Amino acid sequence: MIRETEGYVMQLQNFSVNDGDGVRTTVFLAGCPLDCIWCCNPEQKTCFDAAHKMTLAQVEERIAGYALFFRRCGGGVTFSGGEATAQQGFLRAMTERFYDKGYDLTLETCGFFEFDQVRDILEKMNRIFIDVKQMDAGLHEIFTGVGNARILDNLTRMQEELSVPIVVRIPLIVGVNAEAEHIETLCRFLSQNAPRAALEFLPYHRFGEDKYRELGMETPDARYRTALEEIRRQGLCVPGKGVCAAGAEELSSEANMEIPDDAVLENCRRIAADHGILVVSYR
Ligand code: SF4
Repeated sequence: MIRETEGYVMQLQNFSVNDGDGVRTTVFLAGCPLDCIWCCNPEQKTCFDAAHKMTLAQVEERIAGYALFFRRCGGGVTFSGGEATAQQGFLRAMTERFYDKGYDLTLETCGFFEFDQVRDILEKMNRIFIDVKQMDAGLHEIFTGVGNARILDNLTRMQEELSVPIVVRIPLIVGVNAEAEHIETLCRFLSQNAPRAALEFLPYHRFGEDKYRELGMETPDARYRTALEEIRRQGLCVPGKGVCAAGAEELSSEANMEIPDDAVLENCRRIAADHGILVVSYR
């Protein structure tokens, strides 16, 4: 098994309360195999430089001062990203070290990894958050750059082969995945393949947009319009737009991804509840 004693860290955030139980330190690792058009951390692609290189000892030192908070507040360490498993060797070395120290460990993952290569890491977690972004394989590929088969298979294997509590997270985006029919499909899949998993809806936000401009990258909404054109070209359904690609009217040049309002969120929660799925919120 590969172990690496240094890697690239986008950010190390103490006093985090959104990434698991209690007060936590979140290690945001650089790099991700996906390319989601809405990604709020586009800088994760650019952090493979000397300024972001950290050794295991440096991470350990930065975290050690907070161990008291972990014990008092039931917190611990969360590995996030980017995609934490993209730096598998460094993630393994940190996981083993902090596991031996008795820290509560959480992994936030996009689910796109080789299960057997990281099983030992997954088994040491106290909790795993795994994203499911879109149930349709074709739409998933257009919106994120990869298909969803490996992610859904990994989620199923996590449920069947591990005893770690799982929280499925969906970044809820009107125009991508928030329509009732899609949430129904997701909940049906979870009921059948991951019945012990809880579900968290993470409403879309636009906090990362300025970063795109600063990095000189195409904005999420511009990428969304390109994605819609591709969806139509492939004859797929434009989600949340109430039209199917075949015979759809001209797509508006103003078409954007939208933040779900309370009614959309409430409807999603109701659908999950109807399937007997526990809805949680760490935000
Ligand atoms: S999986 Fe997360 S970090 Fe990776 S591109 Fe998508 S939103 Fe960004």
